[in-house]
Amino acid sequence: MKVPFFDYEEIYKTDYPVYKDSLDSVLRRADFILRDDLRDFELHLARYMNAKFCIGVGNGTDAIWLALKAAGIDKGDEVILPSHTYVATADAVWAVGATPVLVDIENDHLISPSAIEEAITERTRAVIPVNLNGKAARLDLIGEIADKKDLVVIEDNAQGLGAKLNGKSAGTFGLGASLSFYPAKILGCLGDGGGVVTNDDDFAEAIRLLRSHGRDSENLVVSWGFNSRLDNLQAAVLDAKLKTLDQDIEKRRKIAEVYFQELSEVDELVLPQHNEGDYDHFDSYQNYEIEAKNRDELKMYLSEKGIGTIIQWGGKAVHEFGLHGVVTRDLTNTTRIVSRMLLLPMNQYMPLEHAIYVSEIIKDFYSSKSL
Ligand SMILES: *Cc1c(COP(=O)(O)O)cnc(C)c1O
Repeated sequence: MKVPFFDYEEIYKTDYPVYKDSLDSVLRRADFILRDDLRDFELHLARYMNAKFCIGVGNGTDAIWLALKAAGIDKGDEVILPSHTYVATADAVWAVGATPVLVDIENDHLISPSAIEEAITERTRAVIPVNLNGKAARLDLIGEIADKKDLVVIEDNAQGLGAKLNGKSAGTFGLGASLSFYPAKILGCLGDGGGVVTNDDDFAEAIRLLRSHGRDSENLVVSWGFNSRLDNLQAAVLDAKLKTLDQDIEKRRKIAEVYFQELSEVDELVLPQHNEGDYDHFDSYQNYEIEAKNRDELKMYLSEKGIGTIIQWGGKAVHEFGLHGVVTRDLTNTTRIVSRMLLLPMNQYMPLEHAIYVSEIIKDFYSSKSL
């Protein structure tokens, strides 16, 4: 049996019928930039998250830096973020000229609220919690900390679409949040795409101006801006795929359930928990990130058995890239976890039998090691 980590050709075959008509319709109308398909998708996605606005932008990285820019984050400001994230989160801070301050994560692999508190200085202006692996960070606590210190919260929600905390969508807790529609994301398009989500009218208007040369609805230039728009064609594809998103998330949660049933007795592993402590998480499982003893050997063993796995960010946290100008705090958990973490195959396209097979091979690996 072969279980690829992500099979782009299979995804194309499965999804093409879903968006074929939308694609043809856009092409026939030649509606390419800032057209109705984009406005419809923005409306539908905002509604899906129970947010007021979604503004389509070029990609998920642009979404974060445009949000920081719209929030007025500038040179000399410090922005707190977890070191266990895609370098994109830190890139966005660098892009507005601010200083990335990298802090630790907790056992759930998400930014630690107490580490945020300890990292605040008189120059801190913003916090970027990252809703990693389809799980909401402790956005309630982080919001309280931020309010007390008058900090802006911008969520990196590139991996958090569909996740909820206490019934509220990840991506609707801060002033703004990013979304990524990179093909491997839970809601992926046919290339690059992203969005900014917000409940704030002025912030939404600022993002709309920034994404298209500072032009208002009459096409008059009223401020500085850039060009970072979600293509109308991509929006049409995404709008069609959005209709099955809840179904896709249910499928991912079923796969997670299989992994949990099959692997929770394996002492050499730490699995993602449905809930940690006293709060209510609904996870969308963008990724299934485990911690594994003898991680690299396990990865090799799985690969020999035809199973694809991935180590996020090449096994390096942001503080390990040696980038210029970052500030680092205590990163004990991060350093330990990134040396042990591994993503098992997880997507809505894979049959449940694949998850059972993967689990069996993992159990084989550890029982052969204990002989
Ligand atoms: C994918 C991702 C991004 C960036 O999104 P792009 O659309 O590729 O620019 C940012 N942060 C995290 C955590 C991501 O996983």
